[in-house]
Amino acid sequence: MKRMVNRGCLGLAALLLLAAAVPAQGQARTGWRVEYDEAQGSESVHIRQFLEQSNALDATARWMSYWVSLPRPLTLRTMECATSEVRWVPEEATLQVCYRMLVRLSGLLLVEDSTRAAWAPALNYVLLHGMAHAMVDEMNLPAPNGEERAVDELMALMLVPAGGERGSWVLNGMRTLQRADARWSEWEHARTHQLTPERVETVACLAYGANPPVFPEYRRHGLIPAARAGGCAAAYQRVANGLGRRLEPRMRDRQP
Ligand SMILES: [Zn+2]
Repeated sequence: MKRMVNRGCLGLAALLLLAAAVPAQGQARTGWRVEYDEAQGSESVHIRQFLEQSNALDATARWMSYWVSLPRPLTLRTMECATSEVRWVPEEATLQVCYRMLVRLSGLLLVEDSTRAAWAPALNYVLLHGMAHAMVDEMNLPAPNGEERAVDELMALMLVPAGGERGSWVLNGMRTLQRADARWSEWEHARTHQLTPERVETVACLAYGANPPVFPEYRRHGLIPAARAGGCAAAYQRVANGLGRRLEPRMRDRQP
């Protein structure tokens, strides 16, 4: 396990690069902080040490806090749980990230060369997805087609200011996770989070529709089927006019 985690260091360094682009004043906005609960069991202990030393979760929290100002401070807490979950607990203003989930994620992606590079973006996707659930709840954002759909749309809105390279990075993590192993569908978390091709397409299509010149890789890498690409601009406009308008007052609109 320790060896596997060490292999992920290079990938997680990308998270730090991502956060390095966030200026210091980003931290002054109301946002996320990270707390690490005590870990039990050797695998949980290793993954906690690794995440703490790499500052990977702090990097994601800083990045999110930079882009979106929240109504109140929220906590991303790693902890021991009975299931493999990432769950938003509003009464504690906390996104609970179970060590078991992190261990299983590393077990899926760090064992083979073909999937190892996806560890950091897949972790980032899982975290951003959980944070998006918290945002829908905290900001009382509309979810007329269900919360999962609203979360996917929110992810797309976050990828637009992030730019093509970072946006592709997260989406490719999502796609690799989807293809990595059938065991994903057996996890508790997967019961409401099945990573179907349609989900990846929806997020990619919305980001591409927002700015095709910035996201050409989404088409080039086959994230959006040709038949769907023509409707992406209109799909993005619908989301921008709905969810986007609600989010706008709290979101930065340019790169640092
Ligand atoms: Zn979800």
